Amino acid sequence: MTARLLDGVAVGEAIRRDVAPRITAFRFRAGRPPGLGIVLVGNNPASELYVRNKLKSADETGLRADLERLPETASLGDLLTLVERLNGSDVHDGILVQSPLPRSMPEGAERRVFDAIEPEKDVDGLHPLNVGKLVQQRADLVACTPSGVIELLRRSEIPIAGRHAVVIGRSDIVGKPMALLLLHAQATVTVCHSKTADLPRVARDADILVAAMGRPAFVTPAFVKPGATVIDIGTTRVSDRQVIETLFPIGSKRYEAFTRRGSLVLGDVHPAVAEVAGALTPVPGGVGPLTIALLLQNTVTAAERRVGRRG
Ligand code: NAP
Repeated sequence: MTARLLDGVAVGEAIRRDVAPRITAFRFRAGRPPGLGIVLVGNNPASELYVRNKLKSADETGLRADLERLPETASLGDLLTLVERLNGSDVHDGILVQSPLPRSMPEGAERRVFDAIEPEKDVDGLHPLNVGKLVQQRADLVACTPSGVIELLRRSEIPIAGRHAVVIGRSDIVGKPMALLLLHAQATVTVCHSKTADLPRVARDADILVAAMGRPAFVTPAFVKPGATVIDIGTTRVSDRQVIETLFPIGSKRYEAFTRRGSLVLGDVHPAVAEVAGALTPVPGGVGPLTIALLLQNTVTAAERRVGRRG
């Protein structure tokens, strides 16, 4: 069996097309486009790339997106001051602080920053108020990656209700909201983590298996029930040639890409899973583009609610 590939690029474009008339209507009503403030602290190359992609997509979709940069040496106070300024801005409906923050930031800094973002502008859905609303199934702003996965499953006509979904990973940003969204979509949900006993056995019971660990190629065919839908959220940049050679035959497209660039972004799912799964998200081109599409959608939602409240 060769798994059907779930095309995140196409679904991401479809989401953006659906959002376009809402942007037009908002511009007409508010006299300005929905606005997103993106905060980047330091020069992490992966973050630079993510932020560039977000700015480009926002621009193409007709949103205003402003990049606010702080140097690697910025203090937590500097960052909180910037968040406060964006909280008070009339033209920014959404605020996204790109993680991870530099290691020089004090412990717990990320949580303090996410807590400081005005809940109505929290397009990453990480403020405790929005997380609480998610638990109660009444959130407007939900973490982008897990909501993107639900959109992908729905638009790919993969049934969720009544199915057993297994989520590997329990982070606040991915695993937990993913599990809640699947639960709300009527799946029976199991959440796994690093202390789960006999993980392959638990995973093998899944109709929908979501891997969100950040462990390249960890999920082998032994984890996958034949015909299951496998969603690969993990993204890890790997530059070890030996690892790449064990995964991709010399001369294959992926191997050639590695030779050109010196590294590859790998998902958590081993390539051999394509022979067992019924449907599978590729990396790249699976979940990543959906995360960006949902960020844009959340920004439009935040903008509509803010302007709506003001009449
Ligand atoms: P995280 O905070 O490091 O969480 C990783 C989770 O995986 C933890 O719950 C951890 O368990 C679990 N885990 C790690 N090793 C495991 C093992 N051997 N067996 C079972 N569980 C294990 O990471 P995250 O922020 O959730 O991100 C996860 C991955 O998704 C990363 O690769 C990240 O880059 C990627 N990501 C991709 C997108 C996208 O748009 N494609 C967006 C966000 C994140 P414990 O809790 O027990 O430690």
